[in-house]
Amino acid sequence: MAVIIDGKHVSNTIRESIKADVAVFKSERNTTPGLAVVLVGDDPASAVYVRNKHKACIDAGIESYVITMPADTTEEALLEKIDELNADKKVNGILVQLPLPKHICEDNVINRISPDKDVDAFHPANVGKILIGNYDFLPCTPAGIMDLLAYYDISIEGKECVVLGRSNIVGKPMALLLLGKNGTVTVCHSRTKNLADITRRADILVVAIGKPEFVTADMIKPGAVVIDVGINRLESGKLVGDVKFDEVSAISSAITPVPGGVGPMTITTLLKNTLTAARKQN
Ligand code: NAP
Repeated sequence: MAVIIDGKHVSNTIRESIKADVAVFKSERNTTPGLAVVLVGDDPASAVYVRNKHKACIDAGIESYVITMPADTTEEALLEKIDELNADKKVNGILVQLPLPKHICEDNVINRISPDKDVDAFHPANVGKILIGNYDFLPCTPAGIMDLLAYYDISIEGKECVVLGRSNIVGKPMALLLLGKNGTVTVCHSRTKNLADITRRADILVVAIGKPEFVTADMIKPGAVVIDVGINRLESGKLVGDVKFDEVSAISSAITPVPGGVGPMTITTLLKNTLTAARKQN
């Protein structure tokens, strides 16, 4: 039976240390790190994510500015708001909650955020820095996964790492971070042929495809470490990952549950990035 990787515990531990670092920063620099989160529209899931980020900031001693804008906000108005936040000295980090309403171009919005305040690390300047391994911020979910692996002493060097999914937010940066730690990395996607043959090679398998319980035990090498990024709500209301947890946990050596695995780590990295941004700006 696999070790269940407890993302909640790891996240709480790291958040405690961030909170202590924030307190030191405040007393040394006489200023409070600030994060602005912009929510456009009324998507209920996005509203929950924004509330959780707000609460996590408050708990860590970080000032949180939540800016809500109606669903019919024009792209121009949103860009103006970003310009305002870029210029605001109290705001060290800016995050625009995705997805945006269809009439707004996400790339234009991401490109407008000052790279120094881009705590999601989505701006092309930050993506480029990550590619060459000389970065200020790491994208929240992949960096959170690296922290989980480190906490559980799971070494990456020389391991066969397979990343299932190639999104800009999770899959691609995940592959880069594993490569940076000397993993031998393969990235799979919807056009990959003989997928199970590749996933069965993995010592470390990271799955981020958004397909409920897609990865089954026959796709896993016995003893592999399995990181499940997926968050899928079934019609029954149950939350499941991209991995069939019961059968895969029976043959893997370690696995993240959903919920309580990768999820809590994402906001933890966001707090870390906000403090990093505040340090750079002060
Ligand atoms: P995304 O942008 O939809 O990308 C999905 C990726 O999976 C794409 O690269 C796609 O391939 C690939 N894919 C889809 N079906 C596949 C299949 N049958 N076989 C192989 N590859 C397949 O998703 P995302 O933003 O990366 O998110 C993935 C999941 O993680 C979602 O459930 C999301 O909710 C969750 N998530 C969780 C957190 C967290 O904090 N825990 C954070 C972010 C995302 P193509 O490129 O070929 O289309």
